Amino acid sequence: MYLEKLRLDGRVAVVTGGGRGIGLAISEALAEAGAHVIIADMDAEIAAAGQASLAEKGFPADVVELDVTKPADVTAAADAIFARHGRIDILVANAGIARSGVAAEDTTDEHWLSVIDVNLNGVFWCNRAFSRHMLAAGRGAIVNIGSMSGFIVNRPQNQSYYNASKAAVHHLTKSLATEWAARGVRVNAVAPTYIETPLMKFAWDVPGMVEGWLEDTPMGRLGQPHEIASVVHFLASDAASLMTGSIVQADAGFTCW
Ligand code: NDP
Repeated sequence: MYLEKLRLDGRVAVVTGGGRGIGLAISEALAEAGAHVIIADMDAEIAAAGQASLAEKGFPADVVELDVTKPADVTAAADAIFARHGRIDILVANAGIARSGVAAEDTTDEHWLSVIDVNLNGVFWCNRAFSRHMLAAGRGAIVNIGSMSGFIVNRPQNQSYYNASKAAVHHLTKSLATEWAARGVRVNAVAPTYIETPLMKFAWDVPGMVEGWLEDTPMGRLGQPHEIASVVHFLASDAASLMTGSIVQADAGFTCW
């Protein structure tokens, strides 16, 4: 009974930013559990590379080229996926950018707006468009990727725009969860610690930065994409049937200190 609840056979799952990093690991986890995965990524080459790496492991996936900052495109993609598959069961709103390292007083309008546009607006456009199909069906699971940066302020790198965007994702998750709870659609978020992906590559070039992060981390290590993917898999599955509006911290204990 319990392992069965983790199966996703026959379900259609969309993962934004699913072509690499955490999104690719999530795509693989959901596919391994039996879902038909659609990688929705802005970069067609990255999406195709992700698709190829899943295919090598025996998991066929579809690809949709999608920029989550374009609300009309997001709605069109949701409608097209529904028209093609007849159902949308799972959305993982994972696409995000960091652009870390700029002091608040030096942050340009363009810098602030670009991060908010992908990390917050993009998450809302996706939740809005995909939820319509889920609400009509009376079932669905949405997992938004937040961050421990929505709870704490990272150091030493300045990234006020990123931290604010992720705190907003957490509260948006709770707001949508309550609106849709009685209509069969669950909305949760995962708040990871530092995960080794291209997004945090900048830190390796700054002497002492990663070492400092590790000192602030009770487990004393970075996370790997698969360690976030398994949490997302759980939240997307019936094993999490009583969970909505939860922000699940997967952070190696970082936020305890
Ligand atoms: P990556 O940069 O490795 O992957 C992000 C993916 O999202 C890329 O394929 C990127 O495509 C895509 N993407 C970016 N902008 C858009 C857009 N507008 N529309 C569609 N796709 C887009 O990042 P991670 O895997 O590390 O991050 C995934 C999520 O996890 C993000 O929300 C991030 O904030 C969050 N997170 C990451 C942490 C970390 O330490 N890595 C820690 C906590 C949270 P492209 O390459 O073309 O930009």
